Amino acid sequence: MQLADERKKRLAEERRAVLEYLALKALAGRKDVLNALYDYLVNNESPSQASLKHGVQKAQLKSAAYQLVSKARAPLVVKLMKLAWPLIMEIEPIVEDGYCKICKAPIHTNHAEPHIAVKHQDLIKKTALEIENKLREQIKRKKALKAQAPN
Ligand SMILES: [Zn+2]
Repeated sequence: MQLADERKKRLAEERRAVLEYLALKALAGRKDVLNALYDYLVNNESPSQASLKHGVQKAQLKSAAYQLVSKARAPLVVKLMKLAWPLIMEIEPIVEDGYCKICKAPIHTNHAEPHIAVKHQDLIKKTALEIENKLREQIKRKKALKAQAPN
């Protein structure tokens, strides 16, 4: 019983960490890196292929993939990416045209991630939590549909 609880807790922490990482990339406006990550980790394209396709440096893609799979086991990362992708892609970047929309600080796109990670941690957490809640609702709805279906 206790072991099952601990496993559940660990899974929840891993899930949160993955969603926060994906949310940070999206808030920083790095859909290019996100799409390259998807092709690499979910569609099993090679890092060279995926990085070339999305105009991302191969080293950058590899380091992002490494950070992601260090947060959770690879099968969980892949499963979450598949489930959450439409929601991740809907996230509006907060750094655009050289400015942070929240605190109005001038920020170069290359520095968007550290800026958001340091100054807007609460927004990362909030965004990840919203995605998590939406995923939970989706799963509930699917289960309800299944229960309704004859046989
Ligand atoms: Zn800011």
